Amino acid sequence: MNAIDIHNPATGERITSIEADDAATVAAKAQRARLAQPAWAALPLAERQACVRRFAAGVQAELDDLAVIMTRETGKPIRMARNELNGLMGRIEFFLGAVAAATATETVHADGGMTEQIEHVPLGVVANISAWNYPWFVGGNVFVPALLTGNAVLYKPSEYATLTGLAIERLMHAAGVPRDVFTAVVGGGQTGQALLEQPIDGLFFTGSHATGARIAQALGPRMVKLQLELGGKDPTYVCEDADPRAAAESLADGAMYNTGQGCCSVERIYVHERIHDAFVAAFVETVRGFRMGDPMDEGTYIGAITRAPQLAVLEGQVADALARGATLQCGGHRRPGPGNGFEPTVLTEVNHSMEIMREESFGPVVGIQKVSGDSEAVALMNDTRYGLTAGVYTPDEARARAVLSQVHAGTTYWNCCDRVSPRLPWSGCRDSGVGLTLSTHGIQTFTRPRAWHLRQP
Ligand code: NDP
Repeated sequence: MNAIDIHNPATGERITSIEADDAATVAAKAQRARLAQPAWAALPLAERQACVRRFAAGVQAELDDLAVIMTRETGKPIRMARNELNGLMGRIEFFLGAVAAATATETVHADGGMTEQIEHVPLGVVANISAWNYPWFVGGNVFVPALLTGNAVLYKPSEYATLTGLAIERLMHAAGVPRDVFTAVVGGGQTGQALLEQPIDGLFFTGSHATGARIAQALGPRMVKLQLELGGKDPTYVCEDADPRAAAESLADGAMYNTGQGCCSVERIYVHERIHDAFVAAFVETVRGFRMGDPMDEGTYIGAITRAPQLAVLEGQVADALARGATLQCGGHRRPGPGNGFEPTVLTEVNHSMEIMREESFGPVVGIQKVSGDSEAVALMNDTRYGLTAGVYTPDEARARAVLSQVHAGTTYWNCCDRVSPRLPWSGCRDSGVGLTLSTHGIQTFTRPRAWHLRQP
């Protein structure tokens, strides 16, 4: 075994050191999961539901402490850490309530002596390689329905959310999920790679396009079910009939919440020329009101950049935009002092020759571009390799629907943004990935359909 150091990104201090899995321990965990899965799948659904319900109660009971763990290792502002944990409760409730109907055997045809049915069979052993930015959400979207549908789960938290991953494992076992049915696999990219080499039945990944592409290449020849939830460059269009202040306040939050480190954070804003200046003024005023500082402080809105190398990416995007003629409205720099701080940053006079409008920023940085109308907005929104979310602000629902139906995106928003619902599928197109989580489809995705042709003798 080798060790990984866990750092607090807000202070730079080392929190602790954790023994990481190596190839041999990953293989042993995968073997034990394989042996344990059939008995878990054979339990009545009600027993698996009871375990997940006890898990939710365990999370609720320790919610404040779990929020502190997440904040210390990721730099997420503490209020947002509690919001994520509270939000998880609603997601778990959805899965608990929907799983029976979503996985019940369906009779799709009955004619004389012939009956046709679809049965939903668990995949078997699934691996979940997860991201650090919303570790409870993006992990829970996978491991909760995967367990409910009778799978064993090998859960690899990001090394930047290892302590949260170990807390999830502890609470799962305390809730009665057998040790080998839910197993945390701890470590960085090498550990993730070792996981890919195991005889798994499904790989559910959340993370960057670059890593997702590597995983797809590794698993392609083996025909393992693969889901990839990847990045985004999420655009919003503000029409001239929108209220500029209301739209600005909503979108400033959508761009900067979680320090901009969300796959559905608003990263590009197109504003109709008629209200552009009023919108920019309100947007910058709102952003200037966001307090940056110690993530443990209740009043902090902008926390730390979780991964230190991302600071250079943000600096590079700002420098590239300025070199190409953008105007810096606010921010633009690292925060002085220890830890990974970056000021909330707004750039205007931007265009698509600039990285800021093309490459994922994954930080508190946003570009605002003036447009002449709907057709230019649609063309620019689609000028991206990603397709995760897109939004329109206007009082006119028909107009919003007409615009959004032309935009490549898995999720569309009218007068809202940066929002995820357990009742709706979460998916991306283009380089934002393949497959989906959440909704009843995001339960069935952890099963494979078995076709039954039944002829009465
Ligand atoms: P990364 O791609 O860097 O890492 C994701 C996971 O993959 C981590 O657990 C990482 O481990 C692991 N990993 C790294 N290398 C390998 C490898 N060679 N083989 C197997 N696993 C590996 O992404 P981030 O964690 O930085 O997450 C940020 C990205 O996630 C952004 O692009 C964001 O948009 C996207 N995201 C997408 C969401 C969606 O729903 N579409 C939701 C949330 C985030 P380790 O960290 O230990 O190196």
